[in-house]
Amino acid sequence: MNPTPTAGHCYLIQLPVVVDDLATAVRVARVIARSLSFHSLVECGEAAVTSVDDLEVRHPAFCERHLPNGRRCLLHPDHDGQCARQLPSVNQRLRR
Ligand SMILES: [Zn+2]
Repeated sequence: MNPTPTAGHCYLIQLPVVVDDLATAVRVARVIARSLSFHSLVECGEAAVTSVDDLEVRHPAFCERHLPNGRRCLLHPDHDGQCARQLPSVNQRLRR
C-alpha cells in the first residue's frame, strides 16, 4: 500500500458496515471514498474491504491499474473498457 497524502502521516480508518454481501460492501467503500476524495485526504485507489472473519484478505474497492499519468483508475475492480478517473456517464453506460 502506498497512499499519497499531501502532508502528514497516513492512517487507515476502519469503518464496519453490515450489508448482505461483499459486492455491496465494496460498493459502499467506493461511495465513501469518492465522497471524501475532493478533500485530497483520501487516496481512493487504496480503499479496500475486509471481512471481520478474515482480516488478512483484502478486497480492493477500485481497479488497481494506473493511468498513463500514473494516477490510479477509479472504476470498480473488474470494470469493462478503459481505465478512468471518472465514472462513465449514463449515456456511455447505456451504449455498452
Ligand atoms: Zn481500471
